[in-house]
Amino acid sequence: MTLLEVDPALREESAPRTYEVRTFGCQMNVHDSERLSGSLEAAGYVRSTDGDADIVVINTCAVRENADNKLYGTLGHLADAKRHHAGMQIAVGGCLAQKDKNVILEKAPWVDVVFGTHNMGSLPTLLERARHNGEAQLEILESLEVFPSTLPSRRESTHSGWVSISVGCNNTCTFCIVPSLRGKEKDRRPGDILAEIEALVADGAIEVTLLGQNVNSYGVEFGDRLAFGKLLRAAGQIEGLERIRFTSPHPAAFTDDVIDAMAETPSVMPQLHMPLQSGSDRMLKAMRRSYRSERFLGILDRVRERIPHAAISTDIIVGFPGETEEDFADTLRVVEQARFASAFTFQYSIRPGTPAATMPDQLPKAVVQERYERLIALQERISGEEAQKLVGSPIEVLVATGEGRRDEETRRMSGRAEDNRLVHFDVPEGSAVPRPGDVVSVVVTRATPHFLIAAPEGAALPIRRTRAGDAWDRAEAESCAVPTHAPTTGRAVHLGLPGLRPPV
Ligand code: SF4
Repeated sequence: MTLLEVDPALREESAPRTYEVRTFGCQMNVHDSERLSGSLEAAGYVRSTDGDADIVVINTCAVRENADNKLYGTLGHLADAKRHHAGMQIAVGGCLAQKDKNVILEKAPWVDVVFGTHNMGSLPTLLERARHNGEAQLEILESLEVFPSTLPSRRESTHSGWVSISVGCNNTCTFCIVPSLRGKEKDRRPGDILAEIEALVADGAIEVTLLGQNVNSYGVEFGDRLAFGKLLRAAGQIEGLERIRFTSPHPAAFTDDVIDAMAETPSVMPQLHMPLQSGSDRMLKAMRRSYRSERFLGILDRVRERIPHAAISTDIIVGFPGETEEDFADTLRVVEQARFASAFTFQYSIRPGTPAATMPDQLPKAVVQERYERLIALQERISGEEAQKLVGSPIEVLVATGEGRRDEETRRMSGRAEDNRLVHFDVPEGSAVPRPGDVVSVVVTRATPHFLIAAPEGAALPIRRTRAGDAWDRAEAESCAVPTHAPTTGRAVHLGLPGLRPPV
């Protein structure tokens, strides 16, 4: 009799319960999912590796299009899985749970736990309570009790980590549901943030991304308007931290002291994500975004003056209610002038609960689609032209795991350049192979709008072995995984198991 065939109650006692967290949504959600995983592991659950978890947690997003359909579609599939899996529990958390509350339990009564964005730390207790009481648990708090970063975390990457500096937002953009779901901005104390970064670095990370809905208004809660720039400089002092990034700033509150801190702190990377949303001042007003296109372009000029090689990316919404062809032409004009390295472009669609949802002059889908395609074509051209300028340049790439789909077929590995561009680089025959977290020096040989191709200048790939690479080795050893390559030679190590890559 195998373990899987024994009585479920017995199996429960003999093996820890397994979990899986599925994340729908933004980087904030991905980071929250790390906290959820950490809380579950601290409570004794282990991550499922066989796709048949005892606990499935869905961390939802209410910002993205079709969030409801995606959630209820997934829950439909899980209902089926639950019928065949004794003791299985399903939990739904995050923004959509905060918004829909008991609607989720009405529509999907097989869900065991619904929790909001303010009480992620209660998940293990709620699961236990649901199991013990034999009934679904719903707990949604209207405000934050514990700052999420104080919860344990299970990081997805050994070389880089995310650190929340604030949650919530004091702005009221008319298309956005975040303020009503995540509440007013709450800032974490600088000392706590720096201590968390230091802990990540001690754990092997060499890159951190500071996270907040509106990072540069950081400090508003404790009355220091210059707090974000100071935080960047203080993080820049942390020994061993090589790459600092942040997302997302807001153009209205983006002050020159932050540009100075970026330019004067070598470990702050030459990259900026600055959401434009629209190039039309009339639309920006309707969106309740308090900057205008001229101010936006002025910020980019000042950033480039101080950090000439900065790669600037953005978010743009096409087809906001009332957008005319003239407004859209303004967006195209600003995009042309801004020379973004890349852009996340969205077709406006109604988000129930936002002020824009009930605005008159919602545009027909066909009009939005046609404008969207024109914008994409323009941005693709600009992204390609900007990337092209890098051909022949030397770059340093922080090697990643799992970026780039062709890596297994070709002798290519992937990672991120300092400006955050995705880079696929060649590993020459006979050369040592870097570990995720190591840094390689290569030269850009080809550029496309979405990634760069690079190769070493000589026959061997110059690799800087980092603490992050060592941490990756340790993590692999701890998880009993088979290391794919011996540390110094890059040769495949065979332990009698099938390898993923051909031996080198
Ligand atoms: S700044 Fe605007 S878009 Fe960003 S989270 Fe706040 S309200 Fe939403």
